[in-house]
Amino acid sequence: MTAYLDNAATTKVSRAAARAALQTMTEGFGNPSARYPLGGQAAKRLKADRETVAKALGCDSRELIFTSCGTEGDNWAIQAALQKNRHLGRHIITTAIEHAAILEPCKRLEQQGYEVTCLLPNAEGGIDLGDLEAALRPDTVLVSMMLVNNELGTILPVKEAAALTHRLAPKALFHTDAVQGFLKLPFTPKGLGVDLLTISGHKIHAPKGIGALYIRSGLRIDPMILGGGQENGLRSGTEPTAQIAALAAACAEGKQNLGRDIAHMRELKAYTLEQLSIRVPEAEQIGRGEAPHILALTLPGYKAEVLVRVLGDMGVCVSAGSACHRGRPSHVYAAMGLDKAHREGSFRVSFSGDTQRVEVDAFLDVLTQAKAKLFTSMS
Ligand code: PLP
Repeated sequence: MTAYLDNAATTKVSRAAARAALQTMTEGFGNPSARYPLGGQAAKRLKADRETVAKALGCDSRELIFTSCGTEGDNWAIQAALQKNRHLGRHIITTAIEHAAILEPCKRLEQQGYEVTCLLPNAEGGIDLGDLEAALRPDTVLVSMMLVNNELGTILPVKEAAALTHRLAPKALFHTDAVQGFLKLPFTPKGLGVDLLTISGHKIHAPKGIGALYIRSGLRIDPMILGGGQENGLRSGTEPTAQIAALAAACAEGKQNLGRDIAHMRELKAYTLEQLSIRVPEAEQIGRGEAPHILALTLPGYKAEVLVRVLGDMGVCVSAGSACHRGRPSHVYAAMGLDKAHREGSFRVSFSGDTQRVEVDAFLDVLTQAKAKLFTSMS
């Protein structure tokens, strides 16, 4: 049996999503721009799918542009905001715990003469609004703050931060990377008060290769890709109808099961923590991590990289920090000021609505064995 506890890295595609993709690829495969019935049917399906995704997110379907992934949405949001506000200034505010999809473009922008203020996390891995208030300036053109941190599971105060930004820097645009929050927490873009918001399909049981950028109604931004004028002229290229159909199917399921899934993941997280306190008492939780699906842990004195490999060989998938780091040390834990032993021993367990308790039990059994094995080999 494989225990898959790395759902913040990616999720298994649901059967409904896979079925929707297959149907679209093999039967409803027309080009939505084509003028014969097969094309018309594809256009109709695309419209319905966009409405389904919009309903799950709680926005108007005209506010959604499909992208290839969360990284693209994040990169585009930054570029679009800077282009829109180019006459206002060159100051950007973000947080030191954002995903690389935000931090890497910001690094590049710094080299190009933009000034980037990175808000540091507090000891719990949260962001203090007072720090944002102090950082906002008349020449701030963009604030980008993630909704849920992918390594810690902390929920950032996006609603309050957006309100503060709109009050103190009214021309600045507010973007949130909601990749880890979408269908894990109840929220709407309007309720948060954001201008731009990113989601990604493969975190919610849709395939890789599809995401969306929410662009608040009334906000005009520059296109991402120029060409045939698809996606309201903002992102040209023949629409990936199969991925979109799968995303819509996953959104419909995710929206319908949201309350049940949140309760289930919370229960699994509480159970994991309770069992760890009995069976592996030296394991510590890192940060506050209020999101239901992410549990950041550390075993000080152990090397998580080795631990994760040993667990993997025994059929249990968890990740050392975030899968996106490819072995590089976590910038999030460094920003939190975590000491070396806690940093090196850190790993992440993450759940989905489908995760079974037996998978958590397998993780606990294997962790206990792996720990003893590593201890023996280390001593
Ligand atoms: N933002 C966050 C918070 C993420 O966790 C991820 C993926 O891990 C991304 C952005 C990037 O999304 P994608 O893998 O769809 O490019």
